[in-house]
Amino acid sequence: MRIDILTLFPEMCNAYLNESIIGRARKAGKVEIECTDIREYTKDKHRRVDDTPYGGGMGMIMQVEPVYDCYSAICEKLGTKPHLIYLTPQGKTLTQQRVRELAAMENIALLCGHYEGIDERVIEELQPEEISVGDYVLTGGELPALILADAVSRMLPGVLSDDECFEEESHFSSLLEYPQYTRPYEWRGRTVPDVLLTGHHANVDQWRRQQSLRRTLERRPDMLENASLSEADKKYLSDLK
Ligand code: SAM
Repeated sequence: MRIDILTLFPEMCNAYLNESIIGRARKAGKVEIECTDIREYTKDKHRRVDDTPYGGGMGMIMQVEPVYDCYSAICEKLGTKPHLIYLTPQGKTLTQQRVRELAAMENIALLCGHYEGIDERVIEELQPEEISVGDYVLTGGELPALILADAVSRMLPGVLSDDECFEEESHFSSLLEYPQYTRPYEWRGRTVPDVLLTGHHANVDQWRRQQSLRRTLERRPDMLENASLSEADKKYLSDLK
């Protein structure tokens, strides 16, 4: 899979994307992530990419042409039109379900706004999917694009090692994950639940499932509506209520 990030701050994005799990996955060719500087596509002699808003008001607006030309150049280079996503607080909130769907695509492109946002006409012209990372406003789309690129990349085959499996993680199956522990066995008088030391896999699995159900009920009961629950799960939950 290839992810293109259209940004005014490619170095900011690469600083994150070159590290840790995503950095290793890029190097190993498990995911291709390219950051393109929108500023490379300005025709302004001072390399400006923004201007003041028509109608007055605070801040600067990113101009249509550099954004349009940047996306067009990527399409031309790839020989295909990547599914374009504009990161914006006005979009639909990103979910694990959407992350899984995006991870099944061959090419996506992430458009990062900055300053007060982007001239509406290029949004109308390109008709991107609009995605938000939450009901708050950031200074730019780079962190949201990195969140999306990270979440999508770790779904791809070979990006996580076997022991970093995502299938039991929070949100994957509409349940929150069970609590996790590592050495030491005792810390400040708190010990690890004994069942985890028994080596009895069926009992460990059952304990983890029940912890997962309990946590979801306590913290995010809304998620249980979409979870696929066995009869034993339902009984466990109804006994808790
Ligand atoms: N004036 C815009 C508005 O009120 O909708 C907000 C612009 S924001 C200061 C600048 C850029 O940051 C946006 O164009 C967008 O790319 C990004 N951004 C900010 N908050 C975001 C969020 N919650 N989710 C996704 N992108 C966000």
